[in-house]
Amino acid sequence: MHQLFVYNSLSRTREEFQPIHEGKIGMYVCGPTVYSDVHLGNCRTFTSFDVIYRFLKYMGYKVRYVRNITDVGHLVGDADTGAEDKISRKARLDQLEPMEVVQRYANGFQEMMNIFNLLPPDIEPRATGHIIEQIEMIQSLLDRGYAYEKNGSVYFDTPKYISRDHEYGILSGRVVEELMQESRDDLKGQAEKNHSSDFALWIKAEPTHLMRWPSPWSVGFPGWHLECSAMSTKYLGTHFDIHGGGTDLKFPHHENEIAQNVGACGEAPANYWLHTNMLLLNGRKMSKSEDNSVTPQQLFTGDSKHFSKGFSPMVVRFFMLQAHYRSTLDLTDEALIAAEKGYKRLMEVLKTLETLQAENTGDLSDLDQEIVSLMDGVIDDMADDFNTPKALAKLFELTSKINALGGRQLDPKDLHKDTLMRLQTFFPSFIGEVLGLKDDSSDQDQQLVGGLMELIIELRKNAREHKDWGTADKIRDTLTALSIQLKDGKDGTSWAKS
Ligand code: AMP
Ligand code: ZN
Repeated sequence: MHQLFVYNSLSRTREEFQPIHEGKIGMYVCGPTVYSDVHLGNCRTFTSFDVIYRFLKYMGYKVRYVRNITDVGHLVGDADTGAEDKISRKARLDQLEPMEVVQRYANGFQEMMNIFNLLPPDIEPRATGHIIEQIEMIQSLLDRGYAYEKNGSVYFDTPKYISRDHEYGILSGRVVEELMQESRDDLKGQAEKNHSSDFALWIKAEPTHLMRWPSPWSVGFPGWHLECSAMSTKYLGTHFDIHGGGTDLKFPHHENEIAQNVGACGEAPANYWLHTNMLLLNGRKMSKSEDNSVTPQQLFTGDSKHFSKGFSPMVVRFFMLQAHYRSTLDLTDEALIAAEKGYKRLMEVLKTLETLQAENTGDLSDLDQEIVSLMDGVIDDMADDFNTPKALAKLFELTSKINALGGRQLDPKDLHKDTLMRLQTFFPSFIGEVLGLKDDSSDQDQQLVGGLMELIIELRKNAREHKDWGTADKIRDTLTALSIQLKDGKDGTSWAKS
């Protein structure tokens, strides 16, 4: 088995991966806050963890992958107190039940994850389904002296945590003295907290606040950081292998998760912290407010000033894999056009590979050795902190060899039967199972047929309006011969295959 190495944000070094329980891995990834449509940045982060999950399974680990849905407690502007809950706000603005908001955007999120061919996590817990666990954790923090109550709200006591020799800032590198200085400068607006570096565990609800639960302290709702501590502990235990999320979550979200777990459970939650980098659009941060953003749908249809055409979800997925998960990824028209070519080449070569035949059963040739070492290299690259761009580069070297064998520039007589058998198993399974790429040409064909049918129906309508019955009948008869039935209704004409 190849040894796995991961870059651990906690130690800021590449480390040899050792699971806590042999052959098993527990992995927690912070999921989306479901108050608006999923954006491409989220898609990038979750696609990165999907490939990590897939590769760990490919290596033979039994993985329990937990990815939550945040449906309460995440305040506007990622504020800690004094701001409205993102879901509660959306519900108020749209005059919906908060759970209607949650359901709508959770459904949309899941649909998009499917479109990008992500495997569902093993457990997808929601914060509102774990209020009791969160109350219990707060109680434990109070009992152990790591938290204090003020006017019905409960806060984590960071100076107390530090005074007990715990390192607040261990993950993010935030300097405690600076945080303490900030707390002196900044106390006015945060009257309830003793220090501005303290953070809310339980927030007393204002009378207008829509989401509220009874607790020993007040009718209120839990803080955002707490849900992940409570749910990861519930499903993976107090000590598990991998915790992940986007790099923007390192501080304060993940830093606070560590403090909460250390305070309530006596140990840091995860051995390895993995952080994915941000998605850019034309070299700048993707941001709606700066008019520098694109939705997944706009990218698929090409309906955006930033793109000359649409790109299929699998092309976008392939494009994402061309960058390492710890590098920023810049979405540009040229890069996607290039990715489309690469993706198509990979899908084509799968067909060529199926047609290859090998006769050699004797000694291994240089060609055999090259192919075997490229296949091993692909796995080595993935085992080296999930280096998808390097693995893809080797897959393209293999692609050149396969194409040369198919086109006879390389002699298939030099290929050993065993090498070909291994290649014919490895290559498609790696692309499908680990990279999660599938041939979407049939989806594209369907789109094309849909577009053509719209055109044909329009032409028939025009013909009928001009009393050109000959053309109209010819269209209908030809379609009938192709087993396509037109149905004229009051909302226009629809079609179906009979
Ligand atoms: P949110 O729904 O904002 O809580 O974010 C869900 C996940 O998406 C988190 O892990 C974020 O770090 C990640 N994320 C948010 N914006 C981006 C971005 N522009 N690029 C990559 N990941 C992002
Ligand atoms: Zn989280």
